[in-house]
Amino acid sequence: AKDKTHMNLAFIGHVDHGKSTLVGHLLLLEGAIAEQQLDDGEDKFRFVMDKLGEERERGVTIDLAHAKFETQKYEYTVVDCPGHRDFVKNMITGASQADAAVLVVAANDGIMPQTKEHIFLSKTLGINQLIIAINKMDVVDYSEDKYNELKDEISKLIASVGFKPSEVPFIPVSAFEGDNITEKSSNTPWYKGNTLVQELDALDEPDKPVDLPLRLPIQDVYSITGVGTVPVGRVETGVLNTAENIAFEPAGVTGEVKSIEMHHEILDKAEPGDNVGFNVRGVGKNDVKRGDVAGTTKNPPTVAKEFKAQIVVLQHPGVITVGYTPVFHAHTAQIACTFLSLDVKLDPATGQPKEENPDFLKTGDAALVTIKPTKPMVIENIKEIPHMGRFAIRDMGQTVAAGMCIDITDKK
Ligand code: GDP
Repeated sequence: AKDKTHMNLAFIGHVDHGKSTLVGHLLLLEGAIAEQQLDDGEDKFRFVMDKLGEERERGVTIDLAHAKFETQKYEYTVVDCPGHRDFVKNMITGASQADAAVLVVAANDGIMPQTKEHIFLSKTLGINQLIIAINKMDVVDYSEDKYNELKDEISKLIASVGFKPSEVPFIPVSAFEGDNITEKSSNTPWYKGNTLVQELDALDEPDKPVDLPLRLPIQDVYSITGVGTVPVGRVETGVLNTAENIAFEPAGVTGEVKSIEMHHEILDKAEPGDNVGFNVRGVGKNDVKRGDVAGTTKNPPTVAKEFKAQIVVLQHPGVITVGYTPVFHAHTAQIACTFLSLDVKLDPATGQPKEENPDFLKTGDAALVTIKPTKPMVIENIKEIPHMGRFAIRDMGQTVAAGMCIDITDKK
């Protein structure tokens, strides 16, 4: 229904722990897919996901990465899981920013390398709400001891990256059999908590960061007869008001907002999540471009000459050393940036320091580094404006690393 709040949900966890099966089952149980679309085969829920995938490849109807289902409270869009090609980049550039994640851990295998990586990556990407589904309970005979043992281990792991285990729901499920997904299962009489769907409904509504300073990354700039120059973009934080003086950085131009438009309607103001076009007195088509960011003149976007960052190397065929200059994707900007120094290597599962001034970084490493953009670039300290502090690092056609700005050491 239209009046339901929208929620982007990521499914994370080690390969084969049952993410696709769980999503397939949710789609089925919540009525997004008719029973007839299913085969009777052993992997029938998995089949749902494959089916959606095939249809996507053929360019038909459903997009696997954006499968939708609804519960009483929310309408969910399933965003691509980490591991899929462009998850990290989409997360960072806002194309599929997840509001919450379901971590799937198979009860028989327990914590695996990708379980740890994905937990750390979720934190890095700013996913603050987590639900833990301990899956394949059927394989361990619905053992309460097994469940509690794993729950303790996972609690320690998530606590080490900054989640509060007491605030994170754990649910014993079988994605395959359907236990505790929409209905309490008689196979787990010892479990007194909620079903997965109840916990999904209990997630906090995604915040609308209206109290932060205005930041509106520019996606495009149009020139419209009778109106003039119309920059277009999505408000990430704060509020864009008509008649306010705004500044575009790093362009360095300012002007007064004359009009704001969304879906062909005139607005007085635009809030986070709104995709708008707006017209600014005195700003011409060539004065601003994609990658610039609008803010108020009182609190303009920060242009960094140098910044410190925490990064995770996701997949790099070689090594990262000082001097490496790949392209950084932050909000709508794409700018080559140089690694000035590799400061501290971190434990990728916990974020704790492991080695000072490492010679290189490779796949799986996390580190604190110092970065110098080759051109002026807007980025914000993650502690001040989280929505503007993240970036993906792309090279050779793939996302090689993800990170966040933790300090701006040299401003324009
Ligand atoms: P993904 O890689 O995390 O998406 O994992 P899949 O959903 O593809 O599942 C991997 C395999 O585990 C498939 O063969 C599933 O049928 C199987 N599987 C998933 N969930 C369960 C479960 O709850 N119980 C059992 N017995 N098998 C499961």
